[in-house]
Amino acid sequence: MKKITIAVDGFSSTGKSTLAKQLAKALGYVYVDTGAMYRAVTLFAMRNGFVGGERDNVSALIRLLPKIQLKFKYNDALGFSEMYLNGENVEKEIRTLDVSNNVSSIAEIEQVRHKLVDLQKKMGKEKGIVMDGRDIGTVVFPDAELKIFMTASPEKRAYRRYKELLDRGEKVKYEDVLENVEKRDFIDSNREFSPLKKAKGAIEFDNSDMGLKEQFERIQNYALRVIEKQK
Ligand code: C5P
Repeated sequence: MKKITIAVDGFSSTGKSTLAKQLAKALGYVYVDTGAMYRAVTLFAMRNGFVGGERDNVSALIRLLPKIQLKFKYNDALGFSEMYLNGENVEKEIRTLDVSNNVSSIAEIEQVRHKLVDLQKKMGKEKGIVMDGRDIGTVVFPDAELKIFMTASPEKRAYRRYKELLDRGEKVKYEDVLENVEKRDFIDSNREFSPLKKAKGAIEFDNSDMGLKEQFERIQNYALRVIEKQK
């Protein structure tokens, strides 16, 4: 069976990674969470005092970009890949609200995007990949055989993310999570380089009122039909 490339884009906390992981598992494909890569660069910037939005901070980060090594390593016990920043497992650190509050301004930087998009293109050279993010169907894999664009109301998305953070033991307020989700939507959709938008040919899924199981089954069926056609 010929392998395809599946691009999953959409707004923050629309369940892109849950869906992408399920699809990759069902198809025997590799799953790549590009948000984790932007989050790891953000963590690096925060640890080095480069966050704050001043120009000098941005140029200092750009100068150090070649020193940032990002790797995904598959964790057998967990059944998914974890993000390593310069050899350190940062999977937990990159998921905090603190990192979420800074990531969109780091992801706006053209040089950061170039570095990460290059890595992502290399990861997908062999196809058989499900990649999720904001610019996968528009910039990373514009020729992907299947493109999905996910959306849901900001309140539903914030509630899901709020529960996720509470489950992880982070003490957060729903209002702060909602504010973060809306702010990231705005920056991600309005930035100069590769803004978040629905790719040409993408199918749109609004999962505000759809269960995860139903959503997965519908998209899996769709993916299987696209794969069938490749023979
Ligand atoms: O997917 P996740 O919410 O973890 O992404 C975190 C942030 O990384 C997004 O809000 C966005 O600013 C940035 N991002 C991006 N392009 C991608 C993936 C993520 O700009 N392909």
